Amino acid sequence: MTITEDRIHCPACGSADVDRRGTPEGRRTHDCFRCSRAFEPRRCPHCGGARIDGSIAISGMPLQKSRTVVKCWDCSAELPALDDPYGG
Ligand SMILES: [Zn+2]
Ligand SMILES: [Zn+2]
Repeated sequence: MTITEDRIHCPACGSADVDRRGTPEGRRTHDCFRCSRAFEPRRCPHCGGARIDGSIAISGMPLQKSRTVVKCWDCSAELPALDDPYGG
């Protein structure tokens, strides 16, 4: 048994409670259990990590007000919040 999957956060709610889909829905390859939705992981353009704050919540906690930037957990880069966090 090898661990090949990186840590991925839901780009909408920021939850790590996600799993790869057996049958991808278009290019949405992962499921978020908190959102009950499929999404395409967001990659940080700086470090390639997929542990990024959600655009509508962070670690599953809803944002008090919408943000325009979200943070990469791996390199602390600030990235623009997504209009469509599930990947279009
Ligand atoms: Zn989610
Ligand atoms: Zn990064």
